[in-house]
Amino acid sequence: MKVTEHIEKAKGETLFSFEIIPPQKGKSIQELYDNIDPLMEFKPPFIDVTTSREEYIYVDKGNGLLDKKLTRMRPGTLGICASIKHKYQVDTVPHLLCGGFTQEETEYMLVDCHYLGINNVMALRGDAMKDEQSFVPKVGGNNYAVDLVAQINQLNHGKYLHDVMDIDNKADFCIGVAGYPEKHLEAPSLQTDLKRLKEKVDAGADYIVTQMFFDNSKFFEFVKKAREMGITVPIIPGIKPIAVQKHLQILPQIFRIDLPEDLINAVEKCKNNAEIRQVGIEWAIQQSIELKAAGVPVLHYYSMGKSENIRQIASKVF
Ligand code: FAD
Repeated sequence: MKVTEHIEKAKGETLFSFEIIPPQKGKSIQELYDNIDPLMEFKPPFIDVTTSREEYIYVDKGNGLLDKKLTRMRPGTLGICASIKHKYQVDTVPHLLCGGFTQEETEYMLVDCHYLGINNVMALRGDAMKDEQSFVPKVGGNNYAVDLVAQINQLNHGKYLHDVMDIDNKADFCIGVAGYPEKHLEAPSLQTDLKRLKEKVDAGADYIVTQMFFDNSKFFEFVKKAREMGITVPIIPGIKPIAVQKHLQILPQIFRIDLPEDLINAVEKCKNNAEIRQVGIEWAIQQSIELKAAGVPVLHYYSMGKSENIRQIASKVF
């Protein structure tokens, strides 16, 4: 079932969902299942699986020289989606990136999704690679998420690349895109970023999942502005609990988001990581309760491969 159909079926009830990261190359998928198992009691109608950008690694050649190799450290998004769908009978949402993929490769991935009965995808541009100053699309790839949305939408109309028509086997993807309550880090203003978001919706996006935020008023303001701009699709808040002290520096640095003073003070008073985790859990519970009361369609948690804090939050909210 599509994400939007799950939302319609819930008739105003807030749903629980979460996002997982594929294991590092060489690690077992069992680790992932062990983290998913405790969350299944909250009946997520869909689970997102992220895709990582490729990165350069340096391999010791043994003669004092290093070989520069391009690799993807967390491959397997689509395989994981298929295996979770099969094991838990739940819908899965693979994240598709512009970065690192040609349109041709994207089409193959979409064809695989279609064969596997996966009809939800999250269309993202992706960030710059670690050693790049700014995002550079692969030659023959999509430049922005809006271009990826347009490509997926073409498939929904039975139009494949190179004018190969296959009307009888149209895809029917429900397309999610990213939204940024505190604006995307490269956008010159929130208003400009919202215009870009509207372009993604106009190109065929069916719903929006937001970047993490820690101050609900930023989300409410974002939704208000999006609605004023004519964006009518469901907007799903993304929630991440703080878990370690260094999140206070890392999260604002990576995502250009602000952390509320009360949260910073509470974390700074903690004597150890267990206390910080608890502060993060309590904060996320309060955020979730308020968002649920405001009638958000889904609460979407960034699990970052750890489920215990998400389980504790969900047990107080759902
Ligand atoms: P876009 O919508 O393309 O926007 C990127 C920037 O370009 C914005 O500043 C926008 O304002 C601007 N822009 C858009 N269109 C135009 C245009 N036509 N001309 C000029 N400027 C334009 N990253 C991963 O690597 N893997 C993941 O699995 C992943 N999952 C995510 C899930 C969610 C819910 C979110 C919120 C983010 C996720 N990301 C993921 C991060 C995401 O890839 C980055 O935030 C990336 O920098 C932007 O992606 P986007 O799809 O929002 O890009």
